Amino acid sequence: MTTETKVNLLGLNREDMGAFFAGIGEKAFRATQVLKWLHQYGVSDFDEMTNLSKSLRERLKEVAEIHVPEVIMDQQSADGTRKWLFRLDDGNAIETVFIPEKERGTLCVSSQVGCALDCSFCSTAQQGFNRNLSSSEIIGQLWLANKLLGRDPGGDRVVTNVVLMGMGEPLLNYDAVVSAMDIMLEDFAYALSKRRVTLSTSGVVPALNRLKERCDVALAVSLHAVRDDLRNELVPINRKYPIKELMEACRNYLDRDGRRRITWEYVMLAGVNDTEQDARQLVKLLKGIPSKVNLIPFNPFPNTRYQCSDAETILRFQNILINAGIVTITRKTRGEDIDAACGQLAGKVQDRTKRRFKNIEVSQEVV
Ligand code: SAH
Repeated sequence: MTTETKVNLLGLNREDMGAFFAGIGEKAFRATQVLKWLHQYGVSDFDEMTNLSKSLRERLKEVAEIHVPEVIMDQQSADGTRKWLFRLDDGNAIETVFIPEKERGTLCVSSQVGCALDCSFCSTAQQGFNRNLSSSEIIGQLWLANKLLGRDPGGDRVVTNVVLMGMGEPLLNYDAVVSAMDIMLEDFAYALSKRRVTLSTSGVVPALNRLKERCDVALAVSLHAVRDDLRNELVPINRKYPIKELMEACRNYLDRDGRRRITWEYVMLAGVNDTEQDARQLVKLLKGIPSKVNLIPFNPFPNTRYQCSDAETILRFQNILINAGIVTITRKTRGEDIDAACGQLAGKVQDRTKRRFKNIEVSQEVV
């Protein structure tokens, strides 16, 4: 059997793994055994799976593989942030960032090669869009991070939180992202709680509605503007799903008992979206929605037309929100010296055939 036809077990959630073993005439419990080997012990060689019989291991080598992207760059920032460039089989490359803090370690994961959304303040947009990542390429980033950060096999977590805030729009790659998140949450794999896995979206409303029913992880929404005319310009998908529809979908996403809240991301662009009036309108917009606002100082990149708001303006904006009772933080920029900050992930996108925003309509199936 050739490599092409082998199943990459890394990207299979429990259900798919169960179906795979049923398909080769094996008992269902093999699925949980293999999930543990792969994701808790970081094993990539079937011969290390010592509770599988020798004959089963040989059979697995014939029909399956454990295949991860290749590490082509590993950078460490002065503040401890790590950034990796991973090469995929087709020659494209993606970036993944690890942000260590006192009590947690957050991995920022990419979901697509490039991005089709064309947000005007994001450097990933300038790379154009190439393709969706497979579930094994998404979970492979977490698998590799554990290895590169030296997690002991079966030992304590080093990655305690995952944010889907790297390259790409996760809700435009719905199926693969949901399978990968299943594995993050799976007890026999990474066993992260739903509160510790955050999906960040620019607001693909129909997919958001589906996500609520399927895998309601923590949600971050890239708002960035409180008026449709401005949001159309900054986050062009707003033309398709305007603010009103987005807010309604977000309200629906939350549990009725109000235990959860939505994180709103708001990039601070000097003279564009940072006035006191913007802040007051934001307060109005969020009325009645349990919310936390993350103000993100704009991270510049070559040839951008924007500048970051000054510290005083950001503070004034933040205080208006805080005085209205909204939890608001200004996100600390991490990993700036290695271009690992929000919106600076570039990767290496080849063959940008689907570069333009209008192609979203043809390249996504979820809406
Ligand atoms: N497509 C998803 C996730 C990727 S972007 C989304 O839109 O949410 C992760 C966050 O970084 C988003 O809030 C995005 O708007 C923000 N961002 C993008 N470019 C930025 C920049 N240059 N400076 C600061 N934040 C940026």
